[in-house]
Amino acid sequence: MALKSKEIRVRMAPSPTGLLHFGNARTALFNYLFTKHSGGKLILRIEDTDIERSDKAFEKDIIDNLKWLGIIWDEGPFLQSERTSIYIKYLDKLVKDGLAYYCFCTQEELEGKKQEQMSRGVPAKYNGKCHNLSEEEIKKYLSQGKPSVIRFKIPEKKVSFNDIIRGKIEFESSLLGDFVIAKDLSTPLYNFALVVDDFEMKISHVIRGEDHIPNTPKQILLQEALNLPQPKYGHLPLILGPDKSKLSKRHGTQSIAEYRKQGYLAESVINFMAFLGWNPGTEKEIFSMDSLIKEFSLEKVQKSGAIFNIQRLDYLNGFYIRQKSIDELTELCQPYLPASPAGGPKIDKQKLQQIIAMHKERLKKLSEIKELTDFFFKQPQYSKELLRWKKADDEQIKQSLDILEKLLFKIKRWDKAEIENVLMVEAEQTGDRGILLWPFRVALSGKKASAGPFEIAEALGKEETLIRIKQAKELIL
Ligand code: GLU
Repeated sequence: MALKSKEIRVRMAPSPTGLLHFGNARTALFNYLFTKHSGGKLILRIEDTDIERSDKAFEKDIIDNLKWLGIIWDEGPFLQSERTSIYIKYLDKLVKDGLAYYCFCTQEELEGKKQEQMSRGVPAKYNGKCHNLSEEEIKKYLSQGKPSVIRFKIPEKKVSFNDIIRGKIEFESSLLGDFVIAKDLSTPLYNFALVVDDFEMKISHVIRGEDHIPNTPKQILLQEALNLPQPKYGHLPLILGPDKSKLSKRHGTQSIAEYRKQGYLAESVINFMAFLGWNPGTEKEIFSMDSLIKEFSLEKVQKSGAIFNIQRLDYLNGFYIRQKSIDELTELCQPYLPASPAGGPKIDKQKLQQIIAMHKERLKKLSEIKELTDFFFKQPQYSKELLRWKKADDEQIKQSLDILEKLLFKIKRWDKAEIENVLMVEAEQTGDRGILLWPFRVALSGKKASAGPFEIAEALGKEETLIRIKQAKELIL
């Protein structure tokens, strides 16, 4: 039976044990798109049951970057570490019903058993040694302070569920072994806390990475033991590196914060991430968040791994950068530029916008603006050799610089069209434009490749342009 939209509730459940990366951000995005498309709600739950590995700084990073991406939740954030009293109730019930039990096996015993099972070639799992301890034994050990954990008694059966993306998935529960669900009554572990929360938070759909499939039968068995309804499951394909292995640090940076720092825009990251496992089935490749919400469906999510192609992200980012107004783009670029020019030419807002505008077409990431425009903020340093066009000798370079100086000096209306008119007439006459224009570009920018030299000269102003030609001449002398 189809659910009414108000019954559709999904969650993002990151563990604050690392920065928000493409994997968990993609899961968050698909949850967001699915629930917004259906008119449901998104809950943010911070799964910080692993006290040693959880860190407030990671929690903050996750929350900040989800907001930056525009993945906004309706309820939460709820922290599992603040919900212990809820879990105790359920855990206590399981123990009382005999469906979970205290286990006092030591690490050495467990390790020894595991080695022995592996040497026999059978799957390593807990052998149930503590399952039949009497109440007196348990009381005695607990009062002696013997270290213990709480294990779930796995019923022997086939567990199956219908995954929205992958179809029917079946498991033999006997392979699982009685797993640990809590360190003690007030310290539940991941699988247990998650099952209780999914119920308490009325989660209708669990949408998460494929790496969680092995946890699903454990969670289903816990739901059954606690008499809780089963949510629907959808497991998203893994994100793979270009070499088709699971995306990892090896493939370069993964944290959203790092991409953000490099100057990728939130809209590019979202557009890119949506295609990591989903596509609309048409040629359309540019999607805003709103159009994704309209078109997204879990049925169109693929089973096979999604390849992470950084060139595609660069392409999308270039596209979104070009959509920005100069005002907006200048503001976005500001953090990458020197705060105040140190000894360089004075750059006011209008000039800055002019500089940004001339680089808009070639920008793929905002951070690139720094290197592309550094010579506007301080005089360029370069070697004399860079001034040399092909086989030109020093005399020829000097001659070109003299001509440039003379022609530029005479220009009255200092704008790029006029500068270009004057210099092109001369450049065409030499038969090889590079002889004049190459040292011109280098003298102004100190670079082999840059925005057009006429535009640069206009932005630098007549005085600064002439200073730079003079400096180039000094290099050649
Ligand atoms: N806390 C888990 C993780 O960060 C997610 C669990 C789930 O989505 O079911 O991988």
